[in-house]
Amino acid sequence: MEPYRIKTVEPIRVTTRAQRETALRAAGYNVFLLHADDVMIDLLTDSGTGALSAAQWAAMMNGDESYAGGRSFYRFRDAVHDLTRYEHIIPTHQGRAAERILFQTLLQPGDLVVNNIHFDTTRANIEFVGAEARDVVIREARVPSLSHPFKGNVDLEQLERVLRDEGERVAMVMVTITNNSGGGQPVSMENLRGVRALCDRYGKRFFLDACRFAENAWFIREREAGFGEKSPKEIAREMFALADGCLMSAKKDGLANIGGFLAMNDAALAERCRGLLILTEGFPTYGGLAGYDLEAIAQGLQEVVDVEYLRHRIGSIARLATQLTMAGVPIVQPPGGHAVYIDAGALVPHIDRAEFPGLAVANALYIESGVRASEIGSLMFGSAAQLELVRLAIPRRLYTESHLDYVANAVIHVAAEAAQLSGYRITYAPQFLRHFSARFEPCSAGFPACV
Ligand SMILES: *Cc1c(COP(=O)(O)O)cnc(C)c1O
Repeated sequence: MEPYRIKTVEPIRVTTRAQRETALRAAGYNVFLLHADDVMIDLLTDSGTGALSAAQWAAMMNGDESYAGGRSFYRFRDAVHDLTRYEHIIPTHQGRAAERILFQTLLQPGDLVVNNIHFDTTRANIEFVGAEARDVVIREARVPSLSHPFKGNVDLEQLERVLRDEGERVAMVMVTITNNSGGGQPVSMENLRGVRALCDRYGKRFFLDACRFAENAWFIREREAGFGEKSPKEIAREMFALADGCLMSAKKDGLANIGGFLAMNDAALAERCRGLLILTEGFPTYGGLAGYDLEAIAQGLQEVVDVEYLRHRIGSIARLATQLTMAGVPIVQPPGGHAVYIDAGALVPHIDRAEFPGLAVANALYIESGVRASEIGSLMFGSAAQLELVRLAIPRRLYTESHLDYVANAVIHVAAEAAQLSGYRITYAPQFLRHFSARFEPCSAGFPACV
């Protein structure tokens, strides 16, 4: 059961199939262009979409909006320090601002950053300064049907090869916990120790992309020998202790709607980052956030390492995955810490990749149930796509088990009729990040064939 009860409710507007068909047509068959009021259960992202606790709202009322030296900054700084033990803590308006500041401070054109898999904004911020982002995740991570307890692990041999052969160019090593772009898969403590040892041997800086550090700590507690008796917070501290710093989007495991931070031990680097922060984000004691945002994050970081919270969160995602698997719906195995990924390539093999199998499944799911999910496949990545997935990202503390049962039933219903689904053709696409704003028409009755 949910280890919390509900003090405030927000009504869901229940729509009919006909209303959803009209809404989706008006949105050019792109769920990103829907009005969110036309969505019944929104699984587009787990970022910034969670519910706040009573304690967070109470702390927010106590927010100090002083321009400089506000009380809320010190509470935020102490909460981050208590968890990470890093000396220098720099608030930012969200994760990508922390990325931009770190990379613009640290990287030169031609530099190389190595990571298990770079998240898309991380990669974009590295490439924007003319550096290269290289992914060195283990091979198992690329096979959706293959189960592995720590599918987010770095391939240490490959990392060592890069450090040995191209070490001069490597400006820093990063590890993303959990590995978002690889399906929210965890990284083991043993693997983080291996990365630390290599960074020591080659004299490289090691940062964590720590957006889902608490979910990663939970998986270590459950799956890695010797951690079953430790608290998630102790495990999190141990992970942070292995790195020289971290960047974080507080919209994930900060349990906040907005915010992020950079934290590190290197005083000189922190000083340079603060310089850029003042130029573009704000004074170092608010970094583009309101005092009440800092309060929400400070409180959220304490709540997110709660054993019962994590047990329920990871457990409810695993339960959704089991319901789908039992009904024969192909999903990426094992389920990650924040999402279940439907393998649309396997579900609708009759739809050509050029007609976007993932979009066909996501749109059918919306029309069937009002559940919004996102395509992660050839629409998002073009010909570079390796898989055709549909992601059901679960916001934190927002939906009940009953909502997720509704989602499971809807997906199972769509899967049962998958053979009847048809693909889509693009009628408009912008130059960059086309999945956000492209428009489509169906390749079915009344429309000419697409391929
Ligand atoms: C969300 C995310 C980011 C970027 O954070 P924003 O708050 O969305 O800017 C960076 N890395 C990972 C792994 C993420 O999941």
